Amino acid sequence: MNFLPLIESKREGKTLAPGQIQEFIREFTNGKIPDYQMAAMLMAIYFRGLDTAETTALTLAMRDSGDVLKFPKDPRPLVDKHSTGGIGDKVSLPLAPLLACLGFRVPMISGRGLGITGGTLDKLDSIPGFKTLLPAEKIVAQVQKVGCVICGQTDKMVPADKKIYALRDASGTVPSIPLITASILSKKLAESLDALILDVKFGCAAFMQTKADARKLAQAMVALGNQCGANTRAILTDMNTPLGRAAGNWLEVKESVECLDSSAAVLAAAPKIAGETPALRCDDLRSLVLDCAAHLLVQTKISKSLAAARRLAEDCLNSGEPRKKWDEMIVAQGADLKAFNRKLALDSTARVVVEVKPGKSGWVSKCDARVIGEVIRDLGGGRLTKDSAINYDVGVDRMAKPGERVEKSGALCRIHAANAAQAEAAVARLQTAFEISPRRRCR
Ligand code: URA
Repeated sequence: MNFLPLIESKREGKTLAPGQIQEFIREFTNGKIPDYQMAAMLMAIYFRGLDTAETTALTLAMRDSGDVLKFPKDPRPLVDKHSTGGIGDKVSLPLAPLLACLGFRVPMISGRGLGITGGTLDKLDSIPGFKTLLPAEKIVAQVQKVGCVICGQTDKMVPADKKIYALRDASGTVPSIPLITASILSKKLAESLDALILDVKFGCAAFMQTKADARKLAQAMVALGNQCGANTRAILTDMNTPLGRAAGNWLEVKESVECLDSSAAVLAAAPKIAGETPALRCDDLRSLVLDCAAHLLVQTKISKSLAAARRLAEDCLNSGEPRKKWDEMIVAQGADLKAFNRKLALDSTARVVVEVKPGKSGWVSKCDARVIGEVIRDLGGGRLTKDSAINYDVGVDRMAKPGERVEKSGALCRIHAANAAQAEAAVARLQTAFEISPRRRCR
């Protein structure tokens, strides 16, 4: 294939035909187009953009560059959720078993974290024995039997995205809406979904810093997802503050299990830890999990309204069945349940746990997700490069959230670290993540 004229066309702002896009994705996946030419094309796309037909062609060509999961005919709809990522964002973990209990099939293909954003697979790797790398046949078999799976992309799924993403990372072309859209949706569409809910984050620790940019990305992904045959909706959620009260791989698994254990009765009986504010241990997390489930119930026409869907999802979560489904799912993926339960019972698996003191009494007005993410990454809980090893035990928990009262003698959060020196350095940085005001206000 003579690729140069296509690069020149895009450089001049011309439109590429779907057939041309299919051909260059096929040739690039097969190693017939060199990286330097593809990088030039990506830069041309970065500056000139792609229209809807071009983005659709790119997404479908990337999806079809490898295996697409094939499921037997079954009345249970195939659904999934994708989040653009943030600090403490562990929604996938409780959501998958909840959806399975609501009668869906959930082939949740997830990714690893890079930089400050945590990855679902890294969190799951902290479970003794749990396997995240499964062949396609096993993914399909587990979805059919258990109802849900959370695992990584196989080598044969969407290989074009793997190659293109690495080039985007090295060529400064990651923040392009058509390229992000095609990258995310090609992987989700390879799951053969009936419906997809997108959680697009905005804020200081999100990929998209402003709500307006997050909305643009959400609109592009929703339009494309629907055009490609998966009923797609998006919600925009705040990532200025971490989600839940814990961030760090193992601590997030623990909080996810708490969320699955959280019936309304348990939450109502929870001790009040912050003066007037009820300490619903994972209220924002629980609420987002229920919202995602509710949208999927409406998208698949199981529920007529969001309010009815929310009630159905809440009743299901409160029944305790999703907690049992979680155990079934992790055992199906090789987890040692006894070792997992022993680990769950520990207060911490890190060597050192210290509290971060507020310095004064008052109301928390800010809990900066970016600073918290950077501290956890530097404690060893995140990756600086793709090949960095991860410490699963480190992180932050018992975080006070905006709107809550803290006393001088109380704590803003706890740090779980590998040693005292790291913990001490983290205390000083975390104190800057929180703002305490004399009056109750959030920002
Ligand atoms: N996540 C992806 O999978 N691809 C992108 O381009 C951005 C985020």
